[in-house]
Amino acid sequence: MSKLEALKERNLASAKVFDYFEEICAIPHGSRDTKRISDYLVDFAKAHGLVYEQDDANNVVIIQEASAGYENAEPIIIQGHMDMVCEKESGCAVDFAKEGPDIYVDGDFIKARGTTLGGDDGIALAYALAVMDSPKIVHPRLEVVLTVDEEIGMLGAEAIDLSMLKGHKLLNIDSDVEGHFLTSCAGGMTVETTIPTDRRTQRGLAVTVTVTGLSGGHSGSEIDKEHGNANILMGRLLKALADRMDIGIVSLSGGLKDNAIPRESAAELLIPAEEQAAFAGLVNELSDLLKKEYVASDAGVRIDCAVGEEKEARILSFGAMTRVIFYLRNVPDGVQHMSRVMPGLVETSLNLGILSLKEDALCVTTSVRSSVSSRKEELRDRLEYLAEFLGGEIAVNGDYPAWEYRADSEIRTTISGIYRELFDEEPVFEAIHAGLECGILSGKIADLDCVSFGPNNYDIHTPKERLSISSVEKVWKLLVEFLKRSR
Ligand SMILES: [Zn+2]
Repeated sequence: MSKLEALKERNLASAKVFDYFEEICAIPHGSRDTKRISDYLVDFAKAHGLVYEQDDANNVVIIQEASAGYENAEPIIIQGHMDMVCEKESGCAVDFAKEGPDIYVDGDFIKARGTTLGGDDGIALAYALAVMDSPKIVHPRLEVVLTVDEEIGMLGAEAIDLSMLKGHKLLNIDSDVEGHFLTSCAGGMTVETTIPTDRRTQRGLAVTVTVTGLSGGHSGSEIDKEHGNANILMGRLLKALADRMDIGIVSLSGGLKDNAIPRESAAELLIPAEEQAAFAGLVNELSDLLKKEYVASDAGVRIDCAVGEEKEARILSFGAMTRVIFYLRNVPDGVQHMSRVMPGLVETSLNLGILSLKEDALCVTTSVRSSVSSRKEELRDRLEYLAEFLGGEIAVNGDYPAWEYRADSEIRTTISGIYRELFDEEPVFEAIHAGLECGILSGKIADLDCVSFGPNNYDIHTPKERLSISSVEKVWKLLVEFLKRSR
């Protein structure tokens, strides 16, 4: 019996979408584990006599020719990603290497027991397969592009070859608020900075200082929340200490990912034993000061210190320490520009995500984002100049273009107009300060006109993820009607 048996009596127009969604959920398909789901899509194409292409990364493209009467219409690209984030509640026995989520119906929602559901973005696959498996739905030539590993850096979109496509109009079904149509996204890059350092041996009182209690968050969508960056605050603390006493830096580290605002940063120092009281006083003073500064934006911030033993250690030379502190006090971080095109949208930002002090170098990983490509380059140049000024260098990876806002997007105007007409609800247009596959794809398809939308899916990437059945139904009607009118 179907796990979604309860849907049968609801007589949904989207019944086939749910049938495919259930099949997809039965196949493990976490990021980096996409071979089985990719083969399933290929099997679908074969069974329906459709032209397809599967690449080495497991990306799949399936082509379905136009319905009668639609031969001259512009092709429509339907796009989504096949990998899901596999998160579990503690104690949950689901083994994502062997099984998919255990789904069930609860009122208007499809949920998964103890895990993420993978509605993000399994529902895009289900919509695409249901359209291609419904002879009564009329449409132009469909070019279905299903990518892998979106959730871990859009690797599939990066690798895919789309030279076989004829279309320039793309529906990205990977948004999770129904009626909200995404119109553009930021481009980005990761900048690795290396500044050489040297060390000398010194005796002193070992102490540690930690910056903790911060909220962190996504370096794109939450960069405008004024959350503290633990690494930047550590730089401020080190400068305050170095101004008042002789310190030596033994170790320094903070942050785990370039695209997460760092919540914690820690340093191990040597100080003169007689400065112990002054040191503790200064740490408390700065901790209180930060609590006041961040009272409304990140109230949990705190700086703590612990005193160890007198010992000998390898500390940064005075010159190296000065360069490290200079870097942390002068490197740009956070929001740099707000958009004047889309009020409230961050246009350009960066996040000093990871800080680590090696034996002979300071290594910093920064995520840079902008919806204006020259502003992204300008920030890259500043990071490079600062690094070079301090005797270091930068390396750039994961550079992807922005999906730039088009004032005259025909696909956006059409689909949002149909939404208004069908449901008597006003569509909302949004831009996001984070990456979407549309950004990478617009770098691969000339003159791409695209829009991103999808049904309501709440608390994605968590075990609370739940997909609204009534919203899937509405978005299905929207999609079918859009295809019908695309001639
Ligand atoms: Zn997604």
